[in-house]
Amino acid sequence: MTAHTPLIFKSTRSTHGRSKTERDAILADPGFGKYFSDHMVSIDWTVEKGWHDAQVKPYGPLLLDPASSVLHYAQEIFEGLKAYRHADGSIWTFRPQANAERMQRSAHRLALPGLPTDAFIESLKQLVSMDADWVPSAPDTCMYLRPFTIANESFLGVRSAHKATYFVIASPVGPYFSKGVAPVSIWLSEDFTRAAVGGTGAAKCGGNYAASLLPQQEAYKNGCSQVLFLDPQEGKYLEELGGMNVFLVKKDGTLITPELSGSILEGVTRLSILQLARDRGLKVEERKISIDEWRNGVASGDIVEAFAAGTAAVVAPISALKGRDFVAGDENAPAGKLTMSLRQELTDIQYGRAPDRHGWLKRL
Ligand code: PMP
Repeated sequence: MTAHTPLIFKSTRSTHGRSKTERDAILADPGFGKYFSDHMVSIDWTVEKGWHDAQVKPYGPLLLDPASSVLHYAQEIFEGLKAYRHADGSIWTFRPQANAERMQRSAHRLALPGLPTDAFIESLKQLVSMDADWVPSAPDTCMYLRPFTIANESFLGVRSAHKATYFVIASPVGPYFSKGVAPVSIWLSEDFTRAAVGGTGAAKCGGNYAASLLPQQEAYKNGCSQVLFLDPQEGKYLEELGGMNVFLVKKDGTLITPELSGSILEGVTRLSILQLARDRGLKVEERKISIDEWRNGVASGDIVEAFAAGTAAVVAPISALKGRDFVAGDENAPAGKLTMSLRQELTDIQYGRAPDRHGWLKRL
């Protein structure tokens, strides 16, 4: 998706942005997804005109007609990627082409227009160059970028909207989990699945996350920070967590992760971890993994590490898997060695501390 007239961005600088003092206070302790930079991108789309009116403009509330289709039929997709400040002050993002292409696949599934890859990457560049001061430089901080497209035709008939808008907002962030990289416990959702066969599981659309919130609440009640979902057909095989992919490490060093089933989101972090593991000469398997294989493997000592992988938390060690009537693993177990070394290798590339041998970084 590249052949089109390049979009020209119109820039309007905010007159009510935060002061340097306010910004510095936020950057000193950003949390995750709580604060937003001074500007945002918007690009309109209509059936007649295609993508047009690209803008970088002051961050602020949207004016939406109450009949806007996104509010009624959840015709919405989004992405998540990060901008990293390197030691020399330059700002880079990680595999943005993969996010652009995933967003096009999500758009297709949700009957929304796909934004061409070059326009997607340009939109990130435009926003980050306007709000470069918002990209933090302290260790383990960066700027989370959230592109999203909503259907916004004012029409209550159920059909794909003839009007949509793509936005990008940016949030300076620290670690995703409040405990940093300390191991987390995972809750097995036994009553709910997140996706259906032939549904939207492989797309990054808001509705998938809405469906995951009730089981996520159940996880919190049981002292866990993420939910593990099983396959929607047999309820037997691992799929993924509410917002991350999942990996297990076997005693012989084999790294295993669920194969792409059609209802799993194909994570950019997942792809990158698989590549780094193959580069190390590790045995890597993408295949069906049953919940019994995990539970029995932990009990027999055949499965020695587990971790979750996604842009927000990068690699999060999993100490234990909990269900209604079982706990597999030890909630107080330390992070696994391979888990932490893969995390280190990936973040070293992202922050420019190690050579980018696969050409994954793109300067913004
Ligand atoms: N699965 C789900 C359901 C997610 O929301 C995410 C986060 N985008 C992932 C997996 C991991 O994807 P990525 O590594 O591209 O962030």
